[in-house]
Amino acid sequence: MKALLVIGDGMADRPLKELSGKTPLEVAEKSSLDRIAKDGICGILDPISPGVPPGSDTATLALLGYDALKSYRGRGALEALGSSVEILQGDVAFRCNFATVDENLTVIDRRAGRIETDEASKLAEALQNVRLGSGLTAEILFKNTVQHRAILRLRGQALSRMISDSDPGKTRALTTRFHKILKDHPVNRKRAEKGLPPANIILFRGAGTLPEVEPLPDRYGIKATAITAMPLIKGVCKITGMKLMYVKGATGTYDTDVIAKAKAAIEALKSNDLVLLHVKATDVASHDNNIQQKIEMITKINRMVNHIIKNVDLDETIIAITADHTTSTATKEHEGDPVPIAIQGPNIRTDDIEEFNERVCAKGGLCRIKGKDLMPTIMNFIGKTEKFGA
Ligand SMILES: [Zn+2]
Repeated sequence: MKALLVIGDGMADRPLKELSGKTPLEVAEKSSLDRIAKDGICGILDPISPGVPPGSDTATLALLGYDALKSYRGRGALEALGSSVEILQGDVAFRCNFATVDENLTVIDRRAGRIETDEASKLAEALQNVRLGSGLTAEILFKNTVQHRAILRLRGQALSRMISDSDPGKTRALTTRFHKILKDHPVNRKRAEKGLPPANIILFRGAGTLPEVEPLPDRYGIKATAITAMPLIKGVCKITGMKLMYVKGATGTYDTDVIAKAKAAIEALKSNDLVLLHVKATDVASHDNNIQQKIEMITKINRMVNHIIKNVDLDETIIAITADHTTSTATKEHEGDPVPIAIQGPNIRTDDIEEFNERVCAKGGLCRIKGKDLMPTIMNFIGKTEKFGA
């Protein structure tokens, strides 16, 4: 028996007045998601705990069975790991932005006009081999990723992730050094000539170290693979011992190729016990306050799931569908409301629920569970849990 876990990022929502008090899940065409609800067992799930709005990183950690409140150590190291930066226990990593400051060091553009990746690469090269100074000895690795985004890794003795955004004192020395190098760099002189904002400062945030977790293959004796376009989610999956599958056309944006992702999941199920299939853009639509786009993305997820249902052996596969958290399209924020969950499989009890959405799933047979209960639930269905007691 195999398991597929489909996560629509921020797919759950709150009632929207534009939809006459319904949620996007209640109005979108999603017959295949409804079929999973109808043939399986449903419920609602608090990713962390009732009323706690989770980040995608803590929520995904929870859905993979971990107590995120205990194991989470900040976003930076997970994002770095997911961006192919080597991170070891003890390293501190930050998410960074190339930004623009004026002569008074006031930030005037947090993304440096969304500088292009190859220009950022040239600037990043100039920032290697900078020393921290002021009593802190650490090896520095600075790597740009996409556009204005970058990763800073500090490696050294007794570093703490508490050298963070909230304690700028210790990172100020490095900021100043980077600024001195960047402000007169030829790339920025050219940008100034073209009237573009210079990428003359690096902003640090999300300091983090790796969480210490027992990997899924050790915990359950399984092989697991994840399909996601998001560096942060890649990092979470990597640290939990999942392999990552690259899918051409998977972008993390509205144009993502869901059929390519479906095909990849079908392929991955052949050689894995657990496959996680993550789609980001439902969350993006809510952050963009775009109701129609969110409905369209739910329909795309439905098409993806439909392709999978038609092409896997449902006698040998259980399929679970949920969201990592609620993102309200009205507030444009993650909220602490529970999310719907449906699990279908040959040996799974059913209930009377026939639709996949926030309202109806709340009446389902799984009742209300926590995020960290989901993985044991799935592992139980595929025969990978051990008896507790004699
Ligand atoms: Zn999320």
